[in-house]
Amino acid sequence: MRYNDSNQAREVASRANDLMEEVVLPIERERAGGMAVSSGTIAELREAAREYDVYAPQIPEEYGGMGLSFRDSLPAFEEAGRSLLGQIAMRVDAPDEGNMHLLELAGDELQKETYLEPLVQGEIKSGFSMTEPMQGAGSDPKMIQTTAEKDGDEWVIDGHKWWTTQGVEADVLIVLARTDPDAHPYEACSLFLVPADADGVEVIRDVPHMGGGNHGTSHAEIRYKNVRVPEEHLLGELNEGFTHAQERLGPARLTHCMRYSGMAQRSLDIAKAYISERRGFDSTLSDKQSLRHRIADAETKLHMARTGIRDAADRIAAGDEARIPVSMCKVFSANVTQDAIDLAVQCCGANGIGKDLPLSDFYESVRQFRIVDGADEVHRRVIARAAFEDVPEEELEPLTRFGDPNRKRSADH
Ligand SMILES: Cc1cc2nc3c(=O)[nH]c(=O)nc-3n(C[C@H](O)[C@H](O)[C@H](O)COP(=O)(O)OP(=O)(O)OC[C@H]3O[C@@H](n4cnc5c(N)ncnc54)[C@H](O)[C@@H]3O)c2cc1C
Repeated sequence: MRYNDSNQAREVASRANDLMEEVVLPIERERAGGMAVSSGTIAELREAAREYDVYAPQIPEEYGGMGLSFRDSLPAFEEAGRSLLGQIAMRVDAPDEGNMHLLELAGDELQKETYLEPLVQGEIKSGFSMTEPMQGAGSDPKMIQTTAEKDGDEWVIDGHKWWTTQGVEADVLIVLARTDPDAHPYEACSLFLVPADADGVEVIRDVPHMGGGNHGTSHAEIRYKNVRVPEEHLLGELNEGFTHAQERLGPARLTHCMRYSGMAQRSLDIAKAYISERRGFDSTLSDKQSLRHRIADAETKLHMARTGIRDAADRIAAGDEARIPVSMCKVFSANVTQDAIDLAVQCCGANGIGKDLPLSDFYESVRQFRIVDGADEVHRRVIARAAFEDVPEEELEPLTRFGDPNRKRSADH
């Protein structure tokens, strides 16, 4: 399917496709699903991505990337998403990808030098610590309990976070904490760069979870107990933590959509290959109309998702925050990609559940997509709020209310 992408975006995506076909997928096919990726394989993949000139397309050149705009990086992200290894290879893997973007936007020059450049090179890893256990911040981030208090020229952070992706391996953690006890939470929180080896940072555990085995899939519970960081570790503006988090999350939601739409497309491709070869009940399974129609529906919805993602990215490129289109993309893509991967598993029968194909890894991976970066219901809430903003009451003028006879209509009759 050809989309309204720029020539540059197409060229980079085409090279990314070559990388996927010639390097990444062959390596993926040699490995059983669910296997941890060794640092040697990661280095090999990243070296190849550099050779194909598709390494970190979204990062400005001065920090070690290719300098593509967010919109032009999009098709390459889709390519990368076709394998869990593609994202690692091209350095567009969560959570580092979102954290790099945040550092690029909000970091000062020293922070960029200290953290962004080594992150782009893959020399260090990062985590983003916002979510807290019950009754702290979750779907409702206003419930944040973690605090940071100024003491001389240091900030003292005290709190409890969990589900910090890659938190076990991270070298640096970006922590959201309340810095003003009195203001509304959205104007009272700030972000801090916390070295993972700072005194008082205790990684309690990798929360056992669905999926895993791949690079960056730990989800850490972390206690921050009187952690002291110099004031230079404030990331962005004081009390603007939610604004900066939103700057990270808006595009990060879309990049999730792109990666997962690539994964969904690959799943459908695998399913089509399988049912085209597999025979049963006197024909190939691809001759069964019930399966053909379900594949057709999945392809249609995926195309709508990919089109919508491009529209939202165009709006962001034009300087719009695009909050509603991003929420629409997030909830729609999450459900469409989950359904497509589920259909692919179904089409492949036991091979869909087995680990010779990547489908079961994809299936485990995609389920989180309806919860992370805002659960479906939270995005629907945002969409619904806008949808109900300007309800056209005049549309109901012709209706009859109790005790108010509709004489106008009766006369017209
Ligand atoms: C794999 C994974 C990786 C993650 N990585 C990170 C990370 O790196 N950093 C980080 O800070 N957090 C991370 N999270 C946490 C994630 O952002 C939260 O799980 C998410 O925001 C939901 O918060 P919660 O789990 O506390 O759910 P809760 O707030 O307890 O909500 C539970 C469920 O209630 C429903 N719900 C919530 N609000 C409403 C409503 N208004 N109306 C109707 N239904 C509603 C939703 O279905 C929701 O799933 C990760 C989570 C997962 C699963």
